[in-house]
Amino acid sequence: MTTLDQPAENSTRAPGPLHDAQTQLREATTILGYDDGLHQMLATPRREVTVSIPLHRDDGSVEVLIGHRVQHNFSRGPAKGGLRYSPAVDLDEVRALAMWMTWKCALLDVPYGGAKGGVRIDPRHYSRAELERVTRRYTSEISPLIGPERDIPAPDIGTDETTMAWLMDTYSVQQGHTVLGVATGKPISLGGSRGRATATSRGVVHVGLAALRSRGITPDGATAVVQGFGKVGRYAARFLAEAGVRVVAISDQYGAIADTAGLDVVALEAHVDATGSVVGFKAAAAVDPATVLEADVDLLVPAAVEGVLHAGNAGRVRARVIVEGANGPTTPEADVMLQQADRLVVPDILANAGGVIVSYFEWVQANQAYWWSEAEVEARLADRILDAWHSVTDHARRLDVPLRTAATCLAVERVAQAHQMRGLYP
Ligand code: NAD
Repeated sequence: MTTLDQPAENSTRAPGPLHDAQTQLREATTILGYDDGLHQMLATPRREVTVSIPLHRDDGSVEVLIGHRVQHNFSRGPAKGGLRYSPAVDLDEVRALAMWMTWKCALLDVPYGGAKGGVRIDPRHYSRAELERVTRRYTSEISPLIGPERDIPAPDIGTDETTMAWLMDTYSVQQGHTVLGVATGKPISLGGSRGRATATSRGVVHVGLAALRSRGITPDGATAVVQGFGKVGRYAARFLAEAGVRVVAISDQYGAIADTAGLDVVALEAHVDATGSVVGFKAAAAVDPATVLEADVDLLVPAAVEGVLHAGNAGRVRARVIVEGANGPTTPEADVMLQQADRLVVPDILANAGGVIVSYFEWVQANQAYWWSEAEVEARLADRILDAWHSVTDHARRLDVPLRTAATCLAVERVAQAHQMRGLYP
């Protein structure tokens, strides 16, 4: 087992998300005064599995894909975390994302540990039937490790509610009965929760508006840019626009578009549904995607991938407030530069926690077989995430540290306390 504190052998990126997660943890355990044993316990994943996924392609050929599931910590409950389909997936990325899930669940006080899964695949190049076979084989390989009381996957980059339906069905067939609680982010007709599809974005916008106000910026009439127009970015842009924020530029992996008068987000959604990209949206100008991150706006929402704000571009970021819809978009080096430039960075483990909050609600509803209304889900989500916003900002003031440091310290302390109360077996 590789501890998360040592450079991993298969690291393909320098330094990459695992380095970022380790750096953030080291800072927190130093502030908390933890000894090396406790630090190593928090830094090391509890379990990791790598599986091969032989796939019959539609043309009759066979291809072998690689998948991972990393369960970082179970001290506070079953592991919880998304499943990512992307060509960039590697074990180190999954380890980092699993660790961030542990802190996120602890920060929001949902009774879970952290996990993450990934398959190295570009889903755009596979048919729906092929993706179903990949999902079912991957699920079958990891099924001894998952379950409502063990580890509960959810959608992430490149996966969606249909992926979760296949995962839930495969697991259920193996168990011999329907197990709704094995995954969250499922379709409503299969035990999904109302409000789950938009929950991460709702959370981003609740926290984003609070962050703007904390800097004396009135949301109505403020300006924003969003990087990424997938499950998180599109609804974040829509809800910002509904709150009166002028969304002036949006990018995706193919390009970027801008309109200083404010984009028509609903029309853009229709364009993306029809074409698969923001590129070619007639009611806006095409711009260089790099300019989105450096736009002179009140709010920047990175909602795509890790490491997009780094030492090479952080000095050019002009947004007053950065709210991390994505996991790990800001490297520790960029964090320092943004702090020095007086930019407010609302960290991922707080900003994008709306998804795991409503995933928790979905699991609770599935376990009770009792369904809540959308209004109930949304009200509870707003309460939870805004409570966390207040705890983190109060803690940051008390410790005189940035929000990420405060959030990580709060979360790590909760995990360490649970671990210490349970004791070390044997
Ligand atoms: P998604 O696959 O639905 O969408 C990803 C979007 O990012 C797409 O529009 C894609 O074109 C774009 N993108 C990819 N690379 C890019 C690049 N280099 N520059 C600009 N755009 C790029 O994924 P998602 O579920 O929206 O997840 C986005 C981020 O949010 C990830 O970091 C994920 O871990 C995080 N997140 C997701 C959830 C959730 O509930 N889905 C919850 C918490 C955090």
